[in-house]
Amino acid sequence: MKRPAIDLGACILCEICVELAPHAFEISDSGFVQVKPLDGYQDDDIHEAIKNCPKDCIFWEDD
Ligand code: SF4
Repeated sequence: MKRPAIDLGACILCEICVELAPHAFEISDSGFVQVKPLDGYQDDDIHEAIKNCPKDCIFWEDD
């Protein structure tokens, strides 16, 4: 299954992804964006979050 992953070196913690798709992205206790475990990642909100990331640092990886 394809799931989003974050290039933490490029992420500026703007939290746009968290605002657009809070069911999929969150800020971890250590202060980084992390992807929540879901059964699937193909909904519109997630695609919208990826499209609107100002640093283009959300990419797809295979499980
Ligand atoms: S939208 Fe992109 S730059 Fe902003 S917090 Fe999410 S991953 Fe980081």
